[in-house]
Amino acid sequence: MRYSVANWKMNLPPEGIAAYCAALAAAAGDGPRLVVAPPFPYLHEIRGLAVAGQNCAEKASGAFTGEISAAMLRERGAQFVILGHSERRTLFGETDAQIARKLAIALENGLTPILCIGEDLNVRDSGRAEAFLADQLKAAAAGVTNGGDVVIAYEPIWAIGTGRNATGKLCAETTQAVRESVRRFWPERYENVPVLYGGSVTPDNVTELVAEGEIDGFLVGGASLDSGKFLAIHRALGKE
Ligand code: PEP
Repeated sequence: MRYSVANWKMNLPPEGIAAYCAALAAAAGDGPRLVVAPPFPYLHEIRGLAVAGQNCAEKASGAFTGEISAAMLRERGAQFVILGHSERRTLFGETDAQIARKLAIALENGLTPILCIGEDLNVRDSGRAEAFLADQLKAAAAGVTNGGDVVIAYEPIWAIGTGRNATGKLCAETTQAVRESVRRFWPERYENVPVLYGGSVTPDNVTELVAEGEIDGFLVGGASLDSGKFLAIHRALGKE
């Protein structure tokens, strides 16, 4: 299965949610799955498309002011949840251990986690990116006891919201390395896990990224706020 995931972050599409969803839903045919991750209060406004939360709590319920549980996301119609996004890790200090607990609780509640992993520029430049990504995967997998689908999004931190995207070659090589780590460190059932790419993907650079034929889709931030741009990225993936 391949995916086009729109991460609106703390933004709304200027064209309005209803118009945005209508434009995308009209294109949601036999291609990769279209998933939209709006800010929490707008989950129920997403129509005709799969819905993702942008995060969930690591606990099931209780006195955790400002948190949203995996069960609540399910109740509001989400089938997916983005976990371990680099903005959560770097701006909000989320640790590998917390992300592992979130992954486990998301799966327990029937959500498909979209687990984000990615290295910063120091790690990339020092040649340690693949080992770093393997460690992030291992740490996340350590919390999982339930079955269920998992989607992985490789998102190099140096490419998120910076306008600097990975080359098609780097993206393909790293995706292969991530798959190999999944095979080694995760249970058998995750062997066919989809690996998406995210980091300043636009209609202008998408062709180079898909050319190597390795990635299973995209997690898109900035360009996903415009239905026309997001659809252009989605269409570059071709039919399922
Ligand atoms: C993201 O938020 O996951 C992302 C990849 O953002 P952008 O496309 O804006 O780099």
